[in-house]
Amino acid sequence: MTDYEELLDKGIEQAEDLGSGDRFQMPEVDTRKDGSKTIIVNFSDIASKFGRDEKHFSKYIQNDLGTAGHVEGKELVLNGEFRRGNVQRKVESYADDYVFCGECSRPDTKLTKEKGVEIMKCQACGARTPL
Ligand SMILES: [Zn+2]
Repeated sequence: MTDYEELLDKGIEQAEDLGSGDRFQMPEVDTRKDGSKTIIVNFSDIASKFGRDEKHFSKYIQNDLGTAGHVEGKELVLNGEFRRGNVQRKVESYADDYVFCGECSRPDTKLTKEKGVEIMKCQACGARTPL
């Protein structure tokens, strides 16, 4: 390998590193219908991508869609028929409210409770947002 090729290789590696660290890709919900129920097939994958508790996440989705449901394995089973795009929007608004930092918009946040108030703490910029 020539020096030039080696340099080129390094350049590409660095570019890839930057890309993966900086960008957060919004997960796409995958839904399936089961009679009068709607199932989010990749529910637990999305919850873990957000780094959020499945109970917290599923409660939000249920409240927002105005229905009841339960987690079954890796899936969330919702009563009623919902379109995929509709469910996707709820997932995105959950991310806006509870995952992305209000200051720097990064997803590197944690939820904690301080004096009974739920707070979102950003690991990237240190911002603390009461919820
Ligand atoms: Zn931040």
